[in-house]
Amino acid sequence: MKESLNNIKQWIKNINWQTNLYLILSPILSIYVIYYYSTNQLFKWETILLAIFMWFASGMAITVGYHRYFSHRSYKTKKWIEYLYVFFGTSAMEMSIAEWAYDHRNHHRYTDTEKDPYSIKKGFWYAHISWLFTNRGTEGGKTEMDFKKISDLWKDPFIRFQYKYFTLFAIFSAFIFPGMIASLWGDFWGGVLIAGLVRSVIVHHGTFSINSVCHMIGKRPYSLEESARDSWISALLTFGEGYHNFHHKFPGDYRNAIRFWQYDPSKWFIWTLSKLGLSWDLHRTPQERILQAKWEVWEQTLQQKNINLSSEMLTSIKQKFFELVDQISKLRKEYESSYENKKEILNQKIKELQDTYKNFVKLIKHSIDESIYA
Ligand SMILES: [Zn+2]
Ligand SMILES: [Zn+2]
Repeated sequence: MKESLNNIKQWIKNINWQTNLYLILSPILSIYVIYYYSTNQLFKWETILLAIFMWFASGMAITVGYHRYFSHRSYKTKKWIEYLYVFFGTSAMEMSIAEWAYDHRNHHRYTDTEKDPYSIKKGFWYAHISWLFTNRGTEGGKTEMDFKKISDLWKDPFIRFQYKYFTLFAIFSAFIFPGMIASLWGDFWGGVLIAGLVRSVIVHHGTFSINSVCHMIGKRPYSLEESARDSWISALLTFGEGYHNFHHKFPGDYRNAIRFWQYDPSKWFIWTLSKLGLSWDLHRTPQERILQAKWEVWEQTLQQKNINLSSEMLTSIKQKFFELVDQISKLRKEYESSYENKKEILNQKIKELQDTYKNFVKLIKHSIDESIYA
């Protein structure tokens, strides 16, 4: 009896009241605000446009800023762009960069294990939202965050400032700021409620879907080891983060979708910045490494289906394929340490080899299809 009472006390002590109140009340209030504004015809088109802008700016500040820049360091950018990420990222009401990156790095380090802060193994709703209801963090709570794990971020005074004054900063950037803009057309409260509150709920559930939907729905073309999945539907909800299987296999890559037709506006944004000279050192996983990962998945799939891989054709294709991957990797290393004039010749060689293995991939696919459906 005493033990269960202690457990309840501990559970109550662990409840994160501030976060709970916001996460539970904000959707309820948002539904009421939409109902009230519709029945009283209070919507102004300028405020709707502002809400769309704020949705895009805060959502993208999370994906290109909090996630791909601060958590994964997948490219470099100017200081003033960083400040924009901090400002609009704060308006998403998703904690400070230090806390977000801390949890996210743990998510990658311990995916699907007990130490994963939003493990899908604990169920859809846990990964989506309820992990936030109690004091979180792998080490058991916000106040016990091990800052060594984010030392690269913690040394930045602006990131420490955002952590310390997060609530005030968030109230300003999420509500007062859009309210001030909307007061230009006499709609302060529309700015606060529509472009602030309702918009923050939409951004929340978009981001939350990365931890829930993206670990449940879709395919796993690059790795079968983890629950993360690729799906264009979740990409639409998450500014391109839906190609989550690729992201878990290659977390340092600035892209989540690697095909030009796949929806990844976060990648397009970072790429556009680089063309304008505002971002650089964009990290891309070499193509042969991606194909190698795909090969491994094909092989594992065949094994799972009890399909014999020892057929002569497949074995010889595999051998040839890995030889090509080796050759390209060597050339790439040489390329990285060469002078400009030599780089062009090497680049040409790499392209030729890539064409060769692209043809191989077609052949591999054909052979696998034949093996599966024979
Ligand atoms: Zn994940
Ligand atoms: Zn990540």
